[in-house]
This record gives sequence, structure tokens and C-alpha cells, in this order.
Amino acid sequence: MPVHTSQENTMRKLVILGGGTAGTMIANKLHKRLRHDDWGITVVDRDDEHHYQPGYLFVPFDGDTADEIVRSRHHFIADGVRLVYDEVDRVSPEDKSVQLVSGRTLDYDYLVIATGTTPRPDQTPGMLGVEWRRSIFDFYTLEGAQALANALETFDRGRLVVHITEMPIKCPVAPLEFTFLAEAWLRERGLRDRVELVYVTPLDGAFTQPIASSRLGHMLTERKVEVVIDFMVESIDDDRKMLVSYDEREVPFDLLVTVPVNMGADFVARSGLGDELQYVPVDKHTLLSTAYDTIFAVGDASNIPASKAGSVAHFSVEVFVRNFLEHIEGRPMTETFDGHANCFVEAGDDKALLIDFNYDTQPLPGKYPFPRLGPLSLLEETRANHLGKLAFRHVYWNVLLPGRPVPLPSHLSMAGKRVPHRSPREEA
Ligand SMILES: Cc1cc2nc3c(=O)[nH]c(=O)nc-3n(C[C@H](O)[C@H](O)[C@H](O)COP(=O)(O)OP(=O)(O)OC[C@H]3O[C@@H](n4cnc5c(N)ncnc54)[C@H](O)[C@@H]3O)c2cc1C
Repeated sequence: MPVHTSQENTMRKLVILGGGTAGTMIANKLHKRLRHDDWGITVVDRDDEHHYQPGYLFVPFDGDTADEIVRSRHHFIADGVRLVYDEVDRVSPEDKSVQLVSGRTLDYDYLVIATGTTPRPDQTPGMLGVEWRRSIFDFYTLEGAQALANALETFDRGRLVVHITEMPIKCPVAPLEFTFLAEAWLRERGLRDRVELVYVTPLDGAFTQPIASSRLGHMLTERKVEVVIDFMVESIDDDRKMLVSYDEREVPFDLLVTVPVNMGADFVARSGLGDELQYVPVDKHTLLSTAYDTIFAVGDASNIPASKAGSVAHFSVEVFVRNFLEHIEGRPMTETFDGHANCFVEAGDDKALLIDFNYDTQPLPGKYPFPRLGPLSLLEETRANHLGKLAFRHVYWNVLLPGRPVPLPSHLSMAGKRVPHRSPREEA
């Protein structure tokens, strides 16, 4: 049973579940904005390891090491914010309390659910069979990416199949990036003509949005990657090393790099707060729960129809913070989140593309952030974009997580973008 001082008893309580990208930024920004004698902020996470997840992509290609990816979580959370290491078991929205696996209970006035999304190989029959981490790998976890690095060291011929189980997944371009990097990596080692590369997706093209899908699809064709579309996997036959779809198509593999189904946290479902994939339904412009006006969900944990990406977490946190300060004073929330996302797409050979889009505007060609000057190019493979992707790690640890201002608007800007008059296929 927690012991409270009389001052703590009169303080209002903000509890943030999840101290990842979104939860850390929210805690740090609100710690600067809320009066410390009126508000207590608590962050709950299961451990003290904060992972820079975009770094997982490079691990299989002799790139990033665990030292570069993992930092101590508490180091990034402002002094004065209480950090509780525990697993969330359940939220009781009617009592405004959170039960933790250790048996402790936290009361709240306002709750932010920022527990992200997690790859769930257990959801596909056969995925976690005897071939798991022998010929079937993921790179959406650090352990998976490290195991895959070992497997790639000895892989010198056969069918390398990159596979998305089901959308939505976090960083939806990451499987494409993996494919481009694998192609370049095999080429550098003189192995490219001994390896068939196959990209298997449940989508009807390389990506979700027409212009980007056409451009990225073209890049797969240029690199002689076979693309299998509309593939809804039913099971993996690990005896025959075969992906099997609901419509009875089969894709054989020697090495399978899969992105398992991504799902929100189990406690979300246990608390009756989730949709079928355990994401929290919220208003897509304010991130306020559609069921409770004391609960917000920010980052990958919500059901907003935007990419599940760190950039979305960042832009939406900016909007959320301003709205939250109005909401707790009983005023209408005046800011609107537009679904803004921007993502670098590694293309191999030290080049990358950049895409910038929101709920209403698909990724378009052009320059970013400054018209004509860039220095980054939209939907174009450049070295500057690749350097931007590498530099982003520094920005993440030193600017984003501490909640420092970033000189980029949280809403999508059309400055520098070209709206093509031709069809997407011609444009690409
Ligand atoms: C391979 C890969 C590449 C990526 N590349 C990019 C990229 O280039 N650009 C980009 O913008 N995004 C990228 N992302 C996505 C980005 O990392 C996520 O979208 C972002 O981290 C989401 O932030 P979040 O705060 O919502 O969730 P997270 O950062 O995942 O944080 C969730 C936190 O909740 C905690 N948690 C979960 N359940 C519980 C529980 N029951 N109890 C206690 N704690 C719990 C977890 O421990 C975790 O710390 C990539 C992701 C992957 C996997």
C-alpha cells in the first residue's frame, strides 16, 4: 500500500503507461509545463532498457550493435518524474486506477496509454515451430535482429523471402528497407546471383499509397526482387519451409525474414479498452479515448489511421501536449493532429529516400524541409537522405526524447512538394 504525504494527496496525478518514444517525450514536455506542486507525473515501464528501434534494421548487416541501440531508460526521464518499473496488468477506468503485476495499484486523474505495439509470432500457426530462429527470423526485436545477423553470415545461396504477415505494422517501410539492404549486401559479397530475393506482402503493391507504392515497387523490380502481393498467410509449414496463404498459394523459402502480426499490449484487451488488435480507439485529431475523457492513447498504442512510427509519435506528442493543457482546465481542445509522418527509406548503397505525408496527403515528390534547397529529397534516392537517417539517431537521443523543441512543424507542409499531373505509374 503506497504511503502519501498530505501534499501528494492533494496533487493531481498523471500516469503514463509506457516509457518508450511517446511516453518519454510526454513526461519530459509535461514536466516542464505543469506546476510541480500541483501535479505528480508517473511513468510505468517494465524495465530500464530504452531501445532505439530504427537501429534494429542495421544489425543483420554488421551495422548497429546493442551498445548503440540500448540506453538506460531513467537517464532520459526528467528528475522529478516518478519512474516505476513494473508490468501493467489492467486498467480500471471506472475507478481511475492501474493494477500492476507486482500487486501495486496506481490511481490517476489522467492516464496516457503509450505502450506501443509488439510483434507477435505466436499469432501465426507454425511461425514459432522448430524453424524459429533456425531458418525463420524477425528483425523487429533486438534478439531477432542479432540471430538473423548470425544466420546471414553463413547464408550463401537459396531463396531469401521477406514477409509481412498483416498490416498495420510499425514502420511499414522497414521490410522494404530490409530488402534493399539485403540486395546490396548480397551484391557486395558476390552472392547476388546465387540468391533469389522474394518480397511477400498482404498489400496490393509495395506500399500503401499509390505514388510511393509505384516508386518503391519500381525499385524492387530494378533490383530483380520477385514481389508476391495480396498474400494473407494462414500458416507456416516448417517441415516443407513454406508460407501458406488462405487462398492456398505457397511460397517456399530457405531463409524467411518475417514481420509477425503487430499487436497492442495484452492489458489493453484485458481492460476492455482495445479493438481486435488491442489498439485503443481514440479521436484521430485529439488522441482522446472515444470511451473515457480521462484517457489518451499516444504513439503506436492508438488506433489512429496513421503510420505507426516514431515520427508520428513525435508530431502527435506536440499536438497532444497543447491539447492536454487545455483539457485539464476544462477548455475545448483547439489543436488538431493531421496524421503527419515522415520516414527515411534506406535503399542500399548508402542512399535513402524520404517520404512525408499525413491522413489526407500521400507521399509526394519534391524537396524537404525547404522548397528547392532541400537538402533532403522526397521519393528520390540520395546520399543526403541516407546521412539524414544516420543523423537521426543523435536527434532521437539528444533532442526528441528530452522533449527539446525541433524546428519542424508538427503539421504536414506542402512547401517544396510537387503534385504530379501524370498518373502515379508515369511519375515513378
Ligand atoms: C525495425 C524497426 C525500424 C523502425 N524504424 C523507424 C524509422 O526509421 N522511423 C520511425 O519514425 N519509426 C521507426 N520505427 C518505429 C518506432 O520505433 C515506433 O513507432 C516508436 O518507437 C513508437 O513509440 P511508442 O512510444 O508508441 O512505443 P514504444 O517506443 O515501443 O514504447 C512502448 C513502451 O511500452 C512498454 N510496455 C509495453 N507493454 C507494457 C506493459 N504491459 N507494462 C509496462 N510497460 C509496457 C515497452 O516496454 C516500451 O518501452 C521502427 C521500428 C522498428 C521495429
